[in-house]
Amino acid sequence: MDSKYEAVIGLECHCQLLTNSKLFCSCSTRFGEPANMNTCPVCLGLPGALPVLNKAAVAMAVKAGLGLNCTINPESQWSRKNYFYPDLPKGYQISQYDRPVAEHGFIEIQVNGESKRIGVQRIHMEEDAGKSLHEGFPDSSRNTYLDYNRSGVPLVEIVTRPDLRSSEEAYDYLTRLKEILEYLDVCDGNMEEGSLRCDANVSIRLKGAEKFGTRTELKNINSFRFVRKAIDYELNRQAEVLESGGRIIQETRLWNSDEERTVSMRSKEEAHDYRYFPDPDLPLLVLDTEWLAGIRKSMVELPEARRKRFVEAYAMSDYDAGVLTMTRALAEFFDETARVSGQPKAAANWIMGDLLRFYKDGNVDLKDLAQSPVTPKMLADMILLVETGTISGKIAKTVMEEMYKTGKAPAVIVEEKGLVQISNSGELEAIVDSVMTQHADAVSQFRSGKQGSLGFLVGQVMKATQGRANPQTVNELLRKRLAS
Ligand SMILES: [Zn+2]
Repeated sequence: MDSKYEAVIGLECHCQLLTNSKLFCSCSTRFGEPANMNTCPVCLGLPGALPVLNKAAVAMAVKAGLGLNCTINPESQWSRKNYFYPDLPKGYQISQYDRPVAEHGFIEIQVNGESKRIGVQRIHMEEDAGKSLHEGFPDSSRNTYLDYNRSGVPLVEIVTRPDLRSSEEAYDYLTRLKEILEYLDVCDGNMEEGSLRCDANVSIRLKGAEKFGTRTELKNINSFRFVRKAIDYELNRQAEVLESGGRIIQETRLWNSDEERTVSMRSKEEAHDYRYFPDPDLPLLVLDTEWLAGIRKSMVELPEARRKRFVEAYAMSDYDAGVLTMTRALAEFFDETARVSGQPKAAANWIMGDLLRFYKDGNVDLKDLAQSPVTPKMLADMILLVETGTISGKIAKTVMEEMYKTGKAPAVIVEEKGLVQISNSGELEAIVDSVMTQHADAVSQFRSGKQGSLGFLVGQVMKATQGRANPQTVNELLRKRLAS
């Protein structure tokens, strides 16, 4: 895109809430079940079936609103969004329209090392539709199959203001959004599985212009990587249209990831009129003040706040704070290890060095470290064994590996394998003497002024003790012996 243009981008993200049951019935939301297993008269849209609101879903939507710095509306309203499609058996979707549950928030992103606020215009709740299966059956060329397991699954739609100015900013916004939702345990943020879906409104204007250009809506973007590609493709396409004297048509375009381009799906003239109106089956959604206060109180420390705290409290680099806050589970693991050991620096080093490598090799999910064989307490105990001189730093690496393999406590491993550091001078003296006898050459070289021989002799003692000797004590002993 020519640098005389400026991009104007807004995102609309559909996020599936992590409830066990659907928004208006008690059917399971479990992913990957046999088709149409999790259905009932309500989510199949049978006549006369009435919706009953899932309180847990409302709690999650409120949490998302608070996490994105929104105002929570004490009263919001359910509306019917009317359209016909086979995967929508009622002929309407229950959504929120002019009175959403939360609005006027923001997410902070980083642009060239500076913080920028991206406005979150609104968050509303709605139910998902079912799924049309156009492929995978012998008669797929003639028939479409329908799976209503997803029908009625709770979603929040999070709509930004048109504050994003590049595909990079859009990518950063999504990364932050996903992270916050994960920390809050309200959405797993998996774009590939469809639990986070994102549409982008994209337009360009001449730099300095007040008025927005005509926008297109990009749909069907199903990975973080494609968000960047689809937006960049569309920005360039629009610039080319304008440069060649054409005009942008307001339309919906689909991202085709195989061909890496956007293609027109429908123009504004064909766009639906959804005839929204308040759902007569559902009363106003009124949030109890005390219940709301309880949710506010239950909010966890969010990633940005945690990064700032790590940098300030532990004198940590921005990069390290970023690594240790990748997931809430990892950040809590670090916090706990630092607290129990009282050694935040060592805790950070062991986690970022050895532990993350083990996790990576073992495909451990960093969102759920409950499956980790090493607990914060075990790591803290090991750090303290080093700190008190019971084991050397080198031996600690072995202990760490053994802890990860067996899940045994560090003290048990040290005991079983006889890894206790030898600091006892008497025991070490005998070994030093024997090393000096074996390497008389090195001894005489040192005595004739070759200082480097000392390192060699220390190395020999360490070798003789399989790394268990306290290097400082060995050094002192050798110096004393060599001087006499
Ligand atoms: Zn149901």
